[in-house]
Amino acid sequence: MKVSMVSEHASPLAALGGVDAGGQNVHVAALSSSLAERGHQVTVYTRRDDPALPAKVQVSPGLTVVHVDAGPARRIPKDELLPFMGELADGICADWAGQLPDVMHAHFWMSGLAAIQASRRAGASDPVPVVQTFHALGSVKRRHQGAADTSPPARAWLEPWVGRAADWVIATCPDEVFELKALGISRSKISIAPCGVDLTLFPGTSDAEPKSRTHRILSVGRLVQRKGVDLIIQALPLLAEAGFNDVELLIVGGSGDALTLEEDPEAQRLHALAKELGVEENVTLRGQVPRDAMPGIFRSADAVVCAPWYEPFGIVPLEAMACGVPVVAAAVGGLRETVVDQKTGLHVPPRNPEALAEALAKLLADPGLRSDMGRAGARRARSRYAWERIAADTEKAYRSVLAAGLSRQADEGLEPLEGTAL
Ligand code: UDP
Repeated sequence: MKVSMVSEHASPLAALGGVDAGGQNVHVAALSSSLAERGHQVTVYTRRDDPALPAKVQVSPGLTVVHVDAGPARRIPKDELLPFMGELADGICADWAGQLPDVMHAHFWMSGLAAIQASRRAGASDPVPVVQTFHALGSVKRRHQGAADTSPPARAWLEPWVGRAADWVIATCPDEVFELKALGISRSKISIAPCGVDLTLFPGTSDAEPKSRTHRILSVGRLVQRKGVDLIIQALPLLAEAGFNDVELLIVGGSGDALTLEEDPEAQRLHALAKELGVEENVTLRGQVPRDAMPGIFRSADAVVCAPWYEPFGIVPLEAMACGVPVVAAAVGGLRETVVDQKTGLHVPPRNPEALAEALAKLLADPGLRSDMGRAGARRARSRYAWERIAADTEKAYRSVLAAGLSRQADEGLEPLEGTAL
């Protein structure tokens, strides 16, 4: 099959851990290369955010990344990219040069807009079918972030429109199916394919990096408030009260190339909080870490903590599990599915430092429990979350769309886009 992936802000070639570079980049990169390994011809279209980037990068025999000129060639926060989706659609059509793909797969709601436009502008009698993965939903973001949500206001109606206009929607977990149905998207065109974990990279063969204290707790992710890293810092004094004084909290992730860690407001906030709580000596902010250094870091941890307010999926717990490390996870979104409570880690209620401290104390006190949970996690990661399996499930969704000959319904589709200045 000839597949056009669209990932407007999240390039599969970007460095990870910056504000807008995380799980979607990993997902698009791994899914695309697994599909290419299955014999498909995959092209990923992403926005050029640096003038020095080549127009095309041949990543592997079946996989090409195309940097499309759409808006200024510099980093722009993803929430400001909506006006450039029309140009992205034009660039995709230009690259096709009349040789249409069998299917398009859009990642994130704005890519869905570009994909649907490209599919219609291409001028064929049958538009190219569009499969949509949202990765995150504005309705959920608004519920948790309220006025702090910087998404463009039009997301509130354009995102559900994309879901209804797409031929197929792939959700990453059951929780997302529920949210999609609430947006009016028909269950009959939704399937589930979770995110996966790169089992060649994780656990890898590199040694665990040495730790500087008796216990190491690890947090990995973009430094944004909703990831709840402050809650883990708040748990440290409670852990100390419970007798766990010699603990390091290692925080991996940063703001990207634009800012140094010292300039990053979220890093400054976390540092100030640690100081205020008297745990400054126990907290290390490492900044962005390249992919190949991650396995050694995961393997050095006694526990990985994922304490987000909400989480559409969350690849970090899978990477921790693949490395045999137990996960303390807020019981939200995809984490409820990936981390099995009492088996591969411990669930805690969200936004609750006391519960985090209690769960961590339980794990730190019991090396046997940690290694049992670590082993169970590694088994689960291997048996359910290999990218080969996710690629096969995704391919099934593509085939369903093609076989059913589904085409977007004009009455559902065209009007909102035509009224939007894209
Ligand atoms: N990551 C990384 N280096 C960093 C920070 C994060 O390689 O400095 C990776 C991390 O290992 C994971 C991804 O970025 O693969 C984050 O994905 P997740 O789904 O957990 O969170 P998201 O960023 O999508 O909210």
